[in-house]
Amino acid sequence: MQEIEILKRRVERERKARMEAEAILEDKALQLYQVNEQLRQLNENLEQQVKEGGAKLQKSEKRYQQLIESVQDIIYKISPSGYFTFVNPVVEQRLGYSADEIIGRHFTELVVPEYREQLVNFYWEMVNSQKESTYNDFPVYKKNGEIAWIGQTVRLIESEGNVMELVAVARDITEQVATEDALRTTQTRLSTLITNLQKGVLVEDENRRIILVNQLFCDLFAIPLKAELLIGIDCSQSAEQSKHLFSNPEEFVQRINELLARQEIMINEELHMADGRILERDYVPIFLEGQYRGHLWKYADVTEQYLARESIRKSEEKYRGIMNNMELGLIEVDLEDRICKAYDRFCEMMGYAEEELIGQIASDLFLPEEFRNVFNEQQSIRIEGRATSYEIQMVKKDGSRIWVIVSGAPIMDEYGEIVGSMGIHYDISARKLLEQELALAKEVAEEARQAEKQFLANMSHEIRTPLNAIIGMTHLLFDTRPNKQQYEYLDILKSSADFLHSLISDLLDMAKIEAGRIEVQSHPFDLVGLLRTTQRVFQIKLENRPIELDLMIDGRIAGNYMGDDVMLNQILLNIIGNAEKFTEEGTIEITAKLKKEDNDTVWIEFKIADTGIGIPKEKLELIFQKFKQVNPQGHKHKGTGLGLAITKQLVELQGGTLTVKSEENEGTTFTFTLPFQKSDAEIVKNDYEIEEGSSNLEKCNLLVVEDNIMNQRYISGLLNKWNIPFTIAIDGRKAVEQAHKQQFDIILMDIQMPNMDGYEATLTIRNTTNLNQKTPIVALTASAMLDQKNKTKAVGMDDFITKPFTPTQLLSVIKRFLKAESLKTEPVQDEAPPAKVESLLNYPRIKDLYGDDTEYIVDMMETFLTDALPDFAEFQGLINAQDWVALSKLAHRLKPTLGMVGLTDLEEKMGQLETRARNNPQPESLQLIWSSITDKLENGTKEIQQEIEKLKS
Ligand code: ADP
Repeated sequence: MQEIEILKRRVERERKARMEAEAILEDKALQLYQVNEQLRQLNENLEQQVKEGGAKLQKSEKRYQQLIESVQDIIYKISPSGYFTFVNPVVEQRLGYSADEIIGRHFTELVVPEYREQLVNFYWEMVNSQKESTYNDFPVYKKNGEIAWIGQTVRLIESEGNVMELVAVARDITEQVATEDALRTTQTRLSTLITNLQKGVLVEDENRRIILVNQLFCDLFAIPLKAELLIGIDCSQSAEQSKHLFSNPEEFVQRINELLARQEIMINEELHMADGRILERDYVPIFLEGQYRGHLWKYADVTEQYLARESIRKSEEKYRGIMNNMELGLIEVDLEDRICKAYDRFCEMMGYAEEELIGQIASDLFLPEEFRNVFNEQQSIRIEGRATSYEIQMVKKDGSRIWVIVSGAPIMDEYGEIVGSMGIHYDISARKLLEQELALAKEVAEEARQAEKQFLANMSHEIRTPLNAIIGMTHLLFDTRPNKQQYEYLDILKSSADFLHSLISDLLDMAKIEAGRIEVQSHPFDLVGLLRTTQRVFQIKLENRPIELDLMIDGRIAGNYMGDDVMLNQILLNIIGNAEKFTEEGTIEITAKLKKEDNDTVWIEFKIADTGIGIPKEKLELIFQKFKQVNPQGHKHKGTGLGLAITKQLVELQGGTLTVKSEENEGTTFTFTLPFQKSDAEIVKNDYEIEEGSSNLEKCNLLVVEDNIMNQRYISGLLNKWNIPFTIAIDGRKAVEQAHKQQFDIILMDIQMPNMDGYEATLTIRNTTNLNQKTPIVALTASAMLDQKNKTKAVGMDDFITKPFTPTQLLSVIKRFLKAESLKTEPVQDEAPPAKVESLLNYPRIKDLYGDDTEYIVDMMETFLTDALPDFAEFQGLINAQDWVALSKLAHRLKPTLGMVGLTDLEEKMGQLETRARNNPQPESLQLIWSSITDKLENGTKEIQQEIEKLKS
């Protein structure tokens, strides 16, 4: 376009110059003609005068002279042989020579050599043919050596058929020649340019005749002619003739007509050709001095650019399509976080129009204050040129917030300098909401699960107590000589109660395992002995059944190992119990094999193989799940479906694995491998093999440090039973005092005690000079948690047992430290002996109330436990709510129930609670009183339960 503009301007300029030159030329020619005319008349006059005679001659010659001198052109005369005979003074002005310098010289001397011959010939011809007048132009040398172009009119002067002389009027036309020359050059250049232009050009005049056309034009439209041959052709039908070349012929013709009618410049119009090419067309009307003089068509093949553009457009569209479908909001920011570009989806996401965003600081606009730190951190990573992604909230135009995941990447310029960054935002609000709901749901579910577990644990515990009574009573009833039917009923009653009991025990175990309350306790034990006892227990059970029970022990298994014998025993009982349940006849084979051994550990593989009903392959996975029983139809057995779940957990707790193999109707084999530490410690024979015999335990002396009265009673009861002398210290300080007074063989040390706790007491005993610096100290811990275990070791305790411990556990730890050879004991029962220490129960009060009517006492006590005790749970809630009226009423109602069961201390405290709540309610002091009640209430309740048991038996 620019090109054309320049061309147009140049053509215009040169046209003007030519016109000016032409005007001058015309003007001069006119003048020349006039001069010639004058000359001719002069000549005629002259001839006339010559004829008229001499007198006037001189005068007229003078006038002639004056005339010649007055013109601006060089006027000269030469002889027929070419020598200057006259020249007017203008010659000096024009060429620099004086008239004298010229006259007498041959005219060719001034002419530029290349033109001389031609000129001589020209004038020779003129003279010969006696042409009256000629015009010619040629270059001559000026005096200063420059070349000037001369255009001259020459006339022959004849006299009677003879050429007398030649008169010339010559004009300096140097300028005109130069202009024409320039014009010619320009024209040549112009047409060369157009011819060679990489665009098809066609110029038509106002009558639609072709003035100019280049080859490319012909090529574009497949015109099989040389371009020059088209010059002059009429184009008025060309649109009609060539319309078939276009994909929309009628539109093409119509547009051409429109353009021609409008005569307005129109560029870059896109035309689709039938053969698929794309042309770009310019239409340029040509005006000369406001006059329409034709127009120029310019066509360019832009197919390639078009296709490239199209493919970019398509890929952009595709990209945008993807972006929109992916719901990604994009913005570009500079290094100051100023928004340079915001894409549609982003604007839509944030509720802004792009104009509103450009130039704004993105973080100021979108970022909630609490996410500023996250953002800054990410920004610094981005500045280093690394791409990042993170989750933040963003504020929309309407003030609401959305959660987005932002992925950022640096934007670099062509030199690789970071100039800003691109933020890609994905709206994850819905996901976040879901996450929150999920978390909430999980929390609720977790709480529910905990509550359920707690409930289960509590219920199991609560059910066990009355169940014991049922089982006990059933035993008693068997002794009352029931008739046959009653016996049957009792049998059913007993087995149901037994089942219920085992179910409850399993549930409790499971709850304990799941709460992480079961901990592996490692101490030396006799593995072979344990296995033999187990075999014996089952052999007795299987006495009347066609099942043989074999035990095979690897010869390499000998000596003592450290491990949790109680757990191992439970595992064996469960698995062998199942084998016994699901086997009608055949064998149950127990094998213990040493699998692996290193310096301090042995791995023992236990296998229990039966020839029972087996388990279908597809159900093998299920048996370890809770409450799953997979027996074939019609096969009934008692069981909870918890046994194997517990067993598996117990095996895994000890670092072992439990696997099963089974063939239906052939049998089942359970295998588990457990690691045990090797031990040199001399151990007592385990509980299963307690032998009768004399004991020297009577000679030893124990210190029991325990603040809890119930525990004191429990331990002292057992020690009394075993005839082991002991002293009780009620806290750490008392223990240290005792340690200074006499030497003990073992100290049983509680951990949590008032005044001085067990850790501190142990440290003091170990680090001060006293009689018991080296005495074994066994911790009585309330929790089997590892941290507590480690701490007992760290302060210098020798071992620990976890409360609540069984008599067996206590005895075995005592024996271990006393190195007793054997022990004479009664079969041990896992229950507390009658109290010898101070009790919470006010026995005189009970006697006062009920005399010796034990049934009455039991009844009252059971009523207290079932009817009154649950109400005590309400107190804490009322204190929290500061509902003093309700609190004092509740205290008033429950106070006498405490008195009725002999808990007189608590009765008194309850009285205090009642009056305080009514008269002077202060949350702290009421909480204090309540805490002191709950502390004792627990022990009180236990005492009552034991009292009931005692009275009943
Ligand atoms: P249950 O209290 O029912 O015995 P367990 O968890 O101990 O619960 O066992 C789950 C189920 O696995 C049993 O009900 C029984 O179907 C199957 N099972 C366990 N041991 C054996 C075995 N030795 N032979 C056949 N089936 C067995």
